[in-house]
Amino acid sequence: MKRIAPAIDLLLPRTCIVCGNRLLSSERHICLECAAEMPLTYFWKQSHNPMSDRFNEVIQKKIEDSSVQESYAYAAALFTYQPEAPFRLIPHNIKYKGDILAGEHFGRMLGKRLKDNVFWKDTDLVIPVPLHWTRKFRRGYNQAEVIASGVASAMGVPFRTDLLTRIKRTGTQTKLNIEEKALNVADAFESRKCGTLKYRHIIIVDDVFTTGSTLGECFRALREVFPPGVRISVATLGFVGEG
Ligand SMILES: [Zn+2]
Repeated sequence: MKRIAPAIDLLLPRTCIVCGNRLLSSERHICLECAAEMPLTYFWKQSHNPMSDRFNEVIQKKIEDSSVQESYAYAAALFTYQPEAPFRLIPHNIKYKGDILAGEHFGRMLGKRLKDNVFWKDTDLVIPVPLHWTRKFRRGYNQAEVIASGVASAMGVPFRTDLLTRIKRTGTQTKLNIEEKALNVADAFESRKCGTLKYRHIIIVDDVFTTGSTLGECFRALREVFPPGVRISVATLGFVGEG
């Protein structure tokens, strides 16, 4: 029997974001084979994992002069990001090729995993890492915001972009070492208190977690508005492992 392709497939053949093969009408953004091979981290099932260890090290350095005792922060990514592996194309296409629908789709994949998990199910707010307004103006969108909207919709919680602002325009991070990256984003964010803020558990969302310095700066800015009783966790699509 001849397969009848939906009209949209004929007009604009849809291909897998990872392998480039044509998608079946039942598939969205990624083919079943690539979805099955996705190197999931399963960090959402672990209170302590390599990403949370790295993140807590970053935030401990930032708050060491403070008398406030921070509890251990949770961190999870959907998949392990290897610079040479084809899965790098997921964050790449969302960030540079305007694939907003894929951003929401993979954000929902992440949100579904966080939603029913013991460490994450009390989440009541999602906040994306903001772009400086000049960069958002040029790109037309913020990739972290697109992913965060998917995370928030899958978890059934609101997401807000009015509480955290990027006040410093930072250059590209890709060619910097760990110390340079940390300096580059130092004091780059500002948090504002807007109305009554009654939240228990906030997730900051970004596309890829590398050194954790950007998310650490966001954490520090939000901590100025939210007392330590409010848990602040981080979630991203990709996690760049060691080496
Ligand atoms: Zn594929």
